[in-house]
Amino acid sequence: KSGFVAIVGRPNVGKSTLMNQVIGQKIAIMSDKPQTTRNKIHGVYTTDEMQIVFLDTPGIHKPNSKLGDYMVKSAEGALSEVDAVLFLTDVSEELGGGDRYIIEQLKKIQTPVFLVLNKIDKVHPEALLPVIEKYAKLHSFAEVIPVSALRGNNVTTLLDQLGRYL
Ligand code: GDP
Ligand code: MG
Repeated sequence: KSGFVAIVGRPNVGKSTLMNQVIGQKIAIMSDKPQTTRNKIHGVYTTDEMQIVFLDTPGIHKPNSKLGDYMVKSAEGALSEVDAVLFLTDVSEELGGGDRYIIEQLKKIQTPVFLVLNKIDKVHPEALLPVIEKYAKLHSFAEVIPVSALRGNNVTTLLDQLGRYL
C-alpha cells in the first residue's frame, strides 16, 4: 500500500511535531512562530506494509493578501490530489475562527478528512468528548483520532487507520 497524505491546521497546532514523530527525523521546520513552514515539505513513512508521503501543507488559512489568496488556491489543489487529509487541531484551545475557516475549505474537497485532535496530554480525558461533538457538528469527518504528537500517544493508531484509505 502507498499513498499521499496532507497535514493541515492553523499555526502551532503541532503539524511539524506530528510529522517529525511519524518520520522520526527532523525534516519539517519546527518553530513556535506561526507560518515559518513556507514550502510543502515531503516526508516519507515506510514500513514493510506501506509507504506514505506526507505533505506539510502551508497556506490553508484566511487570506489577507493576494499572495494569501494564491496560497489558499494552491492548497486546495494539493488537497484534492491526496488520498487523505489530516486536519490537526489543538484540543487545549477553543475551536475558533481559524479552525472554522479551514473546515470551510475542507468542505470543497472530496478527499476523506481525518479529524486529528492533538495535544491530548494537555487536557483531562473527559474534556475530549465535548470537543469532538463541537467539530462533528461542523463537518462529517472520515475518522476522529485523538493524539499527542509530542509524546507519540496514539500515533500508531493514526497510521493504521490511514492505511485503510491508501
Ligand atoms: P505547527 O505550526 O502546526 O507546525 O506546530 P508545531 O509542530 O511547530 O508545534 C507548535 C508547538 O506546539 C510546539 O511548541 C510544540 O512542541 C507544541 N506541541 C506540538 N504537539 C504537541 C502535543 O501533542 N502536546 C504538547 N503539549 N505540545 C505540543
Ligand atoms: Mg510547522
